[in-house]
Amino acid sequence: APAPVTVVGLGLMGQALAGAFLRAGHPTTVWNRTASKADQLVAEGARRAPTLGEALGASPLTVVCLTDYDAVRDLLGTSGADLDGTTLVNLTSGDSAQAREAARWAAKLGARYLDGAIMAIPSAIGTADAVILHSGPAPDFAAHEPTLAALGTVTHLGADHGLASLYDVAGLAMMWSVLNAWLQGTALLRTVGVDAATYAPFARQIAAGVAEWLPGYAEQIDRGSFPAEVSALETDARAMAHMVEESEAAGVNAELPKLIQAMAARSIAAGHGAEQYPVLIEEFGKPSGG
Ligand code: NDP
Repeated sequence: APAPVTVVGLGLMGQALAGAFLRAGHPTTVWNRTASKADQLVAEGARRAPTLGEALGASPLTVVCLTDYDAVRDLLGTSGADLDGTTLVNLTSGDSAQAREAARWAAKLGARYLDGAIMAIPSAIGTADAVILHSGPAPDFAAHEPTLAALGTVTHLGADHGLASLYDVAGLAMMWSVLNAWLQGTALLRTVGVDAATYAPFARQIAAGVAEWLPGYAEQIDRGSFPAEVSALETDARAMAHMVEESEAAGVNAELPKLIQAMAARSIAAGHGAEQYPVLIEEFGKPSGG
């Protein structure tokens, strides 16, 4: 039978999490500071815990999803809540240091702790499209994976509690970089009357094509050797100059093109002009302006 689970925090995301557990047949206990946010879930079969303590005691596993880590610490870390013997899975968004700190206080209070990051919107929760990352002790994840799997595509990244947050941020870097690159091209083409819808399929094809390069480039990075098999960085740099000049000539923002150009220029100045693009990892791997 599906294992019992408790959900603490019933904002937009917490309600979606509890709803997915219910639909998967898990006996689901819910608690929220503002109790009325449980009403809909209770109508769908959730059990409303009258107190936080009863919510924590109702299930071996409690999934927490609040605004931020300060709220989680206030509610569970410093309020005297009894966490002894429970497993907490904290799906609140935060950074890796906050995740590791939460793991420390949870351990002091006798809880097992997994940190998590949700890379999905509430309506996707409960479908395979919802990617939910977890980090912390592997046995704790394994013990509750059958329950957590009701939420979407769940993955365990490793024992370091900070990993889920770091992957989350790494994913955001991909998302915003692709979107900003697309907006740059759109702004440029709009100056000559090409609308966004016309450029979008072309941009999508380029993005998908570039994505294909990642595994091979990753091998170069992991080997620390960057032979120019496709093109040399100094060849790329000439194309970057066109990107900057065209943006400036068209009167659109050139900050992103100039940033791209500046990173490559630093790498070329450091002697890497004849190597392949991923040699730039050396620039990305040090502090800004370094
Ligand atoms: P909401 O603002 O809808 O909900 C916030 C929740 O936190 C509410 O249940 C609120 O309780 C509770 N809360 C805040 N402070 C406290 C406190 N001090 N004590 C007790 N409870 C508190 O946010 P979401 O549900 O959208 O987001 C929750 C988390 O999920 C965030 O970290 C967010 O980044 C993350 N997330 C959200 C996504 C989304 O698309 N919504 C996507 C991916 C991650 P009350 O109802 O009483 O105010």
